[in-house]
Amino acid sequence: MRKDDCIFCKIANGEIPSTEICENEGYRVILDLGPASKGHALVLPKEHYDNITEMPEQAIGEAFSLAGKVGKAMQHGLGAAGFNLVQNNGTAAGQTVFHFHIHIIPRYENGPEMVAWTLG
Ligand code: 5GP
Ligand code: ZN
Repeated sequence: MRKDDCIFCKIANGEIPSTEICENEGYRVILDLGPASKGHALVLPKEHYDNITEMPEQAIGEAFSLAGKVGKAMQHGLGAAGFNLVQNNGTAAGQTVFHFHIHIIPRYENGPEMVAWTLG
C-alpha cells in the first residue's frame, strides 16, 4: 500500500523526480541526496513498509538481491572496490525516512571520492 504523506512512496512511484539508477516492477533504485560516497544509492520498494519488521520475506529477499546486483554494477561501472549495504530500522538506529530502504554505499581504494572545494 502507498502512504499519502510519504516522500519515498512518491519517489518510488515516480510522482517526484529523482536521479534514477534503475527500476523494475516493484522497486526503484535512486541516488541518495546526501551521499556518503560517490554513487551512494537507495533501493526503494514501491509498496510502503515503515521498516523491515513490516515486510514480507519475499520482498526482503527481492530488495537485498537487487541491492547486491547494483553493488556489483558499481564495481564494474563506477570503479568501486567494494560496497556496504546499510539498512536502518527505528530512530535509535539512525532511520530518518520511515519507508524501508537499503543504502548501497560504494567504497573506493582512495576514500569516498567526494569533490571538495572552497571559495577561499
Ligand atoms: P536513513 O537515515 O533513514 O536510513 O536514510 C535516509 C536517507 O535518505 C538519507 O541518506 C538521506 O540523504 C536520503 N534522503 C532523504 N530525503 C531524500 C530525498 O528526497 N531524495 C533522495 N534521493 N534522498 C533522500
Ligand atoms: Zn512510503
